[in-house]
Parts: sequence; C-alpha cells; structure tokens
Amino acid sequence: MQEITREDIGILVQLQKAETETVRIESFLKKIDKEKSSLEKKLAKFETALKVKKDALERAATLCRETEAEVQMLGDRVVKSNESLRLVKTNKEYQALQREVDDNRKRKETLETSLIQFLEDEEAKQALVTEKASEFAQLTEKIRADQEEIDKKGENDRELLAQYRQQREEIGVKLDGTLYRKFNEISDTSGGLAVVQVRDHLCRGCFMSIPPQLYIEVQRANTLIMCPQCNRILYYAEPEEDTVGAD
Ligand SMILES: [Zn+2]
Repeated sequence: MQEITREDIGILVQLQKAETETVRIESFLKKIDKEKSSLEKKLAKFETALKVKKDALERAATLCRETEAEVQMLGDRVVKSNESLRLVKTNKEYQALQREVDDNRKRKETLETSLIQFLEDEEAKQALVTEKASEFAQLTEKIRADQEEIDKKGENDRELLAQYRQQREEIGVKLDGTLYRKFNEISDTSGGLAVVQVRDHLCRGCFMSIPPQLYIEVQRANTLIMCPQCNRILYYAEPEEDTVGAD
C-alpha cells in the first residue's frame, strides 16, 4: 500500500480541480466544434440540392433551345418546299413534294405544342432555382454568422484551457512520480475524475457505500486508498470544506 501524506492529498485535490476544469472545457470545445461542422454539413447538403435543381434547369433549357431550332428548321424547309412546288413539272413530283410539305408542317405543329410545355417547364425550373439560390445565400450568411458566434464562444475557453493545462502540469510536478502517473491513469479511465471525496460514507465518484474500516483509513490519510468499486482515489474532507466530485 502506497504511503502518502495529507499534503499529497491536498495536491491531489488541487490537481483534480484543474483536471475537472480541463475536461469540462475540452468537452465544451469538442461540442461546439461539432456544432460548427454540423452547420457546415447542413450548408453543403443545401448546396448539393441546389446543384441538382440547376442541372435540371440546364437540361430543360437545352431541350427548349433544341426544339426551337428544330421548329425553325422545319419552318424554313416548308417555305423552301412551297417555293419548289411552283417549279415542278410533273404531277408525281408535285404530289411527292406536297406530301413532304405536309409531313414537315405536321411535325412542326407537334413540336410547337411540345415546346409550349417545355418552355413552361423551363420557366418553373428557373423560378425554383432563383428561389432556392436566394434561400441558399441567406442560409450561408446565417450559418457563417452562427459559426463566427461559436468561434467567439470558444475563444475565452481556449485561453482558459491553456491555463488549466499549465496549472495541471505545475501541480503535477509537486507530486511523487508514481502518484502522478496513478492519477493520470485513473483520470484517463474514469472520465477525468480521479480523486473523489468520501462523504456520508459514500464514494462521491460511484456512490458506493464505503465499508467502515476503509472509511477510517481514508480519514487517517496516510495511505493511498482507492474506491473498491470505481478505483478512484478517495479522500476525506470535513463537510464544510470544498468538495470535488459528482455532486
Ligand atoms: Zn467509487
């Protein structure tokens, strides 16, 4: 059993205070980083959806332009064939050419009917893209502002974190090396809570009831006592003293 002094306990309690703050701030900073990246994802998702709509608009526009060109071409062909009609000599030739004119005219009419629908579709898609692009611009602005706000929120804490980390190191060197390693080990496996108070015969880390004999040893504070259940370092403090632990 490792022998310790009351002074060691005092240092351990101080170390735990710095550790608790460090862990708290680290977890807060992690949380806000997550918030930031989740906003970024939201924006990217919106942008992808907008791109899909823009692509659809482009396809609709291409279809319109191609259809318009074909209508134009068929119209030209009809005009040209009508001119040729006046020059043909035989009845057979005339009938063949007339049939061609009729076919082209019919094809042109069908395309014109389709074109009306294509143009309506293009217009609807254009309206949607305009609307979504404006929403995207607004969302971008809002998200950038929110992210800035989040950055600001974290700024102080980043400074504080550096301070606590330094403090933690400064306190740590006052401890015996074995004890310091032990503290770090327990802290790593116990969610940053390595040193806990025993109060009302309960371990304040896991709330297990501490057996009377062990309780007495904790009060004596001359050996390192760990909670039999959660393996955290136990210390005793008078009820009015500062507490460290899951209160
Ligand atoms: Zn415990």
